[in-house]
Amino acid sequence: MRRRLIAGNWKMNASVDSVRTLLRALSEFQDDSKDVVVFPPAPYLALAVELTKQSQIGVGAQTCAAYESGAYTGEVAASMVHDIGARHVLVGHSERRSLFAENDDAVLAKTQQALAVGLTAYVCVGETLAQRQVGDEQAVVAQQLRRLVTELAPADWQHIVIAYEPVWAIGTGETATPAQAQAMHAFIRSQLQQVSAEVAERTPILYGGSVKAANAEELFSQPDIDGGLVGGASLDAQEFLAICRS
Ligand code: PEP
Repeated sequence: MRRRLIAGNWKMNASVDSVRTLLRALSEFQDDSKDVVVFPPAPYLALAVELTKQSQIGVGAQTCAAYESGAYTGEVAASMVHDIGARHVLVGHSERRSLFAENDDAVLAKTQQALAVGLTAYVCVGETLAQRQVGDEQAVVAQQLRRLVTELAPADWQHIVIAYEPVWAIGTGETATPAQAQAMHAFIRSQLQQVSAEVAERTPILYGGSVKAANAEELFSQPDIDGGLVGGASLDAQEFLAICRS
């Protein structure tokens, strides 16, 4: 039985005050059957770790370096994320892929860095609208998964979460229908069969793309959707809590 998991990607939105306010509200959440993780911008990670110590909220970084350490000005190593007490990291978010030219090689390298230091990597995949319109969505997602499927060891998958985020649904208010999302999640699970039947069965697959309290219940009730990666709505404590309770 896979656990339910709700993740909040704050993107480049936060201040010391807003982190305190949001996490104070979220720390009231209690449900042992679910995991909740927030991904604040890097400068607020240590504060978020401190503020969530007595709660069941986990904290993660929005990206990490593809390298271990050294002369990479501006980069944050996976080991540093782990060192300050965060235990999760997003890898390959579509904004990183499109705005910062993060390709599948970089996604694999970052995932490997994360796994090497004991972080759970949330690897994001998803097609653009143009790719869906020509029927390429499965081919695109299969390609984005290929290096992970072929190069990671089966044991590594205990620390991998896949987030299916159709690019056309991110921040647009347009959500994949539960049927569209379920079809892709089932397809992703079929790709993970190449690693092993156990990995296919056990790996959590989150849906992301304009998830709100109003649509979460129906999306999360699909058999292969194990929870959500929530962007905009995770900045509103009451909305995010309602999604977590879905
Ligand atoms: C995201 O950034 O991962 C995301 C899913 O954003 P939104 O929920 O705002 O579409």
